[in-house]
Amino acid sequence: RRVVLEYPDFEARKDILAIHAKGKPFDETVNWDLVSKNTVGFSGADLENMLNESAIAAARQNKEKISMKDIDDASLKVKLGAEKRRTQSDDDKLMTAYHEAGHAIVNFVEELDPVSKISIISRGMALGFTLIPPQKDIIHQTKSKLIKQMAMAMGGRAAEEIVFKDITTGASSDISHATNIARDMVVEWGMSDLGPINLGPQIDINDFGKAYMEPSKISDQMQSKVDEEIKKLVNEAHQEAKRVLSKNKKKLEILAKSLVEKESLGQEEFEEIMR
Ligand code: ZN
Repeated sequence: RRVVLEYPDFEARKDILAIHAKGKPFDETVNWDLVSKNTVGFSGADLENMLNESAIAAARQNKEKISMKDIDDASLKVKLGAEKRRTQSDDDKLMTAYHEAGHAIVNFVEELDPVSKISIISRGMALGFTLIPPQKDIIHQTKSKLIKQMAMAMGGRAAEEIVFKDITTGASSDISHATNIARDMVVEWGMSDLGPINLGPQIDINDFGKAYMEPSKISDQMQSKVDEEIKKLVNEAHQEAKRVLSKNKKKLEILAKSLVEKESLGQEEFEEIMR
């Protein structure tokens, strides 16, 4: 999608990292190819920020050199916000654990990019997080993969419904994420039953080379069809998430309990539970 093009690719990230690494001392654990591979979706400013944060972290630990772990921790901080020790009740913790486990399991079953970390330690606005770094820069998206991604986004809410027969406000950003994908599919990418027409605002260039936006000119009747299609896609994703989690209820339980106990799980621990 359009947004991806604004972000530097693997080689460009390596160049940007090299610029901002100048003058900073790194130890031998730092693998720049891996750093660049793990920072898909980072802007130039994010990369700069990440290296500055890693230097601060190393200084705080009275170390002379910055390690790979300092960079990894800094990348989480840049992407998700600083760690926050909120006092959560045991019930809240369990609910957060089921929510994150729901995302991770749907992601695993749908065979999307691997989960690198699941955590119920809050960061920024989020109570917990499931980290799925994209494996490569995405140029083309297929409809089936987009639906899987929507199902993954709905996995948190679906887990709450299945386990607690109740829902929380914790899924609001997940729901808007899934809805945004659905809207782009219908309006921009012609991936719904309405067919391959662009129904959104038109971006045009005027005589002076300036881009401007022409608001979409669709009828009320067409607009309600668009809304209907968006709803259909989001519902489909929600049902898919519920189907996957109902089928894997035992794993959902084991994973959530293990999260409450350990707070964070890495890729290997998670995949072991899934196997
Ligand atoms: Zn969520």
